[in-house]
Amino acid sequence: MTTWTEALRRAELVAAGAVLARRGLIRGREGNLSCRIGDGVLLLTPRGADKGRLVATDLVLCDLEDSPPAEASTEAPAHFAVYRACPDVRALAHAHPPGVLALAALGRLPDPNALEEGLALVPRIERVGAAAPGSPELAAACARALRRAPAAVLARHGVLCGGADIWQALERVEALELLAGLALAAAERTVAI
Ligand SMILES: [Zn+2]
Repeated sequence: MTTWTEALRRAELVAAGAVLARRGLIRGREGNLSCRIGDGVLLLTPRGADKGRLVATDLVLCDLEDSPPAEASTEAPAHFAVYRACPDVRALAHAHPPGVLALAALGRLPDPNALEEGLALVPRIERVGAAAPGSPELAAACARALRRAPAAVLARHGVLCGGADIWQALERVEALELLAGLALAAAERTVAI
């Protein structure tokens, strides 16, 4: 039976997916979202779906003790690994923000010190080296990163942010993209010597 809490969390993930898509932080079938709904139980976005157009019944109920269900996101191993390693992480948002990716292509990470909200939301940002999407190597590296920091930039891929709820995870994705945009704009105003 669907509990009130589960129904609320399903609605939140649907809304958060729409926000990610509307703000250009994911395109098409990119990205994935999840949250805990109880001890060892998660809701995860489904494999291959447009996260901007989800409905509540699309979300996949997962047991952390088991392997991820086949219908769950291809990045389910990373979500499982982070939840198993980080008891304080209650929700996760994975996106492909274009500014962060552009900055990463220049070999740079966003600087939390550039903005007060950077310091408040993402005071530490980890870098995860390139690894195949959905791989155990990427999952293990994400768990190591999220144990040390609330946000990680995944090389040649995107970002993964944790939070006390999906809204905090989303705020962190947005903060990374804002910091990256500032850094790129500042770089454009400089003169090469
Ligand atoms: Zn991705």
